[in-house]
Amino acid sequence: MTSLPTAPIPAARPPRVRPDLVLATQRRLARGYVIALSLIAALTIGAGWFLSALVERQSEDAMVINRAGAQRVLSERIAALLADLVHPRNRTSRLDAIEGIDDAVRRLETSHASLVSGPDAPARETSSLHFHYFAGPGALDRTMTDFIARMRTILAAARDNAGPSEEEVAALRAQALGFLPDALQMAVGLHEAASRGRVAYARSVHHTAIGFALGLLALEALFIFWPLSRQVGQLARTLSREASIDPLTGLMNRRAITTALGEALTRGTPVAVIVVDLDHFKEVNDAAGHAAGDALLRAVAARLIECVRPGDIVGRIGGDEFTVFLMGVGDVATARIVADRMRDSLHRPVIHGDRTLRLGATLGVAVAPLDADTPEVILRAADEALIRAKRESRGTIGHASRGDADRITRAAAIIGAFDASCTETGITGISAHLQPIISLRVDPEAGIEVLSFEALARWSHPTLGQISPGEFLPVIGPERTARLGAAVRDDALRILADLRARGLTGARVALNLSAGEVMRPDIALEIEAQVQAAGLSLDAIEIEITEEVLLDRVSDRTLEHLAALRGRGAKLMLDDFGTGTSGLSQLLRLPLDAVKLDKTFVQRLGVDDRAAEIVRATMSLARGLGLEVIAEGVETEQQAAHLRTLDCDAAQGFLFARPMARTALEAWLTTGPGAQRTGAVHRLARSA
Ligand code: C2E
Ligand code: CA
Ligand code: CA
Repeated sequence: MTSLPTAPIPAARPPRVRPDLVLATQRRLARGYVIALSLIAALTIGAGWFLSALVERQSEDAMVINRAGAQRVLSERIAALLADLVHPRNRTSRLDAIEGIDDAVRRLETSHASLVSGPDAPARETSSLHFHYFAGPGALDRTMTDFIARMRTILAAARDNAGPSEEEVAALRAQALGFLPDALQMAVGLHEAASRGRVAYARSVHHTAIGFALGLLALEALFIFWPLSRQVGQLARTLSREASIDPLTGLMNRRAITTALGEALTRGTPVAVIVVDLDHFKEVNDAAGHAAGDALLRAVAARLIECVRPGDIVGRIGGDEFTVFLMGVGDVATARIVADRMRDSLHRPVIHGDRTLRLGATLGVAVAPLDADTPEVILRAADEALIRAKRESRGTIGHASRGDADRITRAAAIIGAFDASCTETGITGISAHLQPIISLRVDPEAGIEVLSFEALARWSHPTLGQISPGEFLPVIGPERTARLGAAVRDDALRILADLRARGLTGARVALNLSAGEVMRPDIALEIEAQVQAAGLSLDAIEIEITEEVLLDRVSDRTLEHLAALRGRGAKLMLDDFGTGTSGLSQLLRLPLDAVKLDKTFVQRLGVDDRAAEIVRATMSLARGLGLEVIAEGVETEQQAAHLRTLDCDAAQGFLFARPMARTALEAWLTTGPGAQRTGAVHRLARSA
């Protein structure tokens, strides 16, 4: 036995869905995302800024190292040119040396200036570099400035042809080749060391940053995302719980109990299903008010729960419909005992304020797997048992049987097959068969006179086979019936148009209208459009409506429309006459042309004298109203003869012809019994 909890009975509750909870969670989520993303963005921007500063420093160092190298080359060149100056090969080479030195000194000076000037000059960056450039005893700046100054003096003297002296040159060359390049080399080394240090620093910063980022992510996960995900999960659970609960009674709703039933049946647990329908709830609700109605429903929920064990399920599946699952109960006797207890409990009055509300209930019981083993079928079976019980007497308990389940399963298969057969252009497998209606006024020796053909739906399905209208019409429901009716009419009208074109000029087709179709406000217009589309006029059709349909379901407006069709040539017939329970006054609602006497009377002619009396009475009633009478279901010569003596106008039945598909009908009309005809309807040409 399972222990699916039955929800407790609440007092009047506010609506359970809490939009504020959803909104708050959504806001918290948004805030969490913003904080988490901002932190990550800040980290990324900081790292980027640090990296670009570092790259800039590195490139400045590389530039300095380049320049220092160039300065060394320049000082070596100056040394070489100084040698040319003291020992020129001729006057021109001396002048060249002066110009060369002048140029090199100027470039040396510019290059040096760019190294030592400016606030961001790399030379100022670290203390050791600064010391080497500016402070130490042989500071590069001083050495270079001094060297350049001395070179300028020498150049001035050389231009005046006043030197320089060999000693001066030797001293300067020594400086250009020794002291100066050494100082520059030293600077290069210091820059390289600074750059190496910076890379090492960057690496350690990088590691720290990664650690920091990971820590940040962990903190975000811990303090932002984890709580958020828990909140969302909680919200989802709340919502799904609330989606499966009826807010008024706190019971499970239809969806939830269907799921629970499916799960139980899958596990192989036997389940007794009891559907409960309150009697006269609507009246109480209307008379005592909705608050009283709600109190009544809550009281019902409480009483039903009292009647079952803790593991059972009580659900509310509609306005005043409840369903109870007795888990683990697989026998009818136990289910019956509980159902009796429930009915008795629900028949006790409910006190609401100063009112005493009277309750009653009708119940339907089905047991799985005895009656059926799928949730849909067992629920339907219990429902049908309830409907049967209600029809017999309210306040009783109906039981399903295995036969119900088979019928329900078959009905579901038929509906599924029908839906699958519907296409854009029509319904695959559906066609109209036509059954001739024969005049009884013509001497049978002389042949037969066909007055019209009744169109009857035929459905041939690849797996379900031939399904008769008697089987599928009651199960497919009004919408599908209307769709089917339209398809059958189209087919029948096409066949008739063809027969008329081939000589059967006076023939008509009788079209059956179901209750669902007659309830459609535009049915008359639809029929007229179909007749026109087939190239026919309204005098080609007869419309058959059963007494039952005519009774109460059809609106006066539709009757007017149908009467209008009659005014323009269509005939209106009352079908299955004699089977309905209508008062004869209903016959006056619609102007009619004929009644069709139901086959049950016809087939009892000669067997039961009362049948002949009913036919005779019908004939006289019809004559009095100016209606023709058509007898249905004529199977024997005796029946036909009997009907003739009763002055019946026309007949239809297997004696003359069965309903026939188009080709069989053509054969019947050209070479079969229908070929020897008399009367107004002309002969059909042999082939199209
Ligand atoms: P219905 O309108 O009373 O049609 C006459 C029924 O009697 C047809 O049954 C026909 O095949 C049957 N029948 C004809 N002659 C004899 C006979 O000599 N003996 C016996 N035992 N039966 C005979 P069917 O075709 O099975 O149709 C059953 C009912 O389904 C029809 O009764 C009609 O109410 C409905 N129906 C059939 N086709 C359509 C349709 O296209 N639209 C609508 N709305 N209803 C249809
Ligand atoms: Ca009919
Ligand atoms: Ca009939």
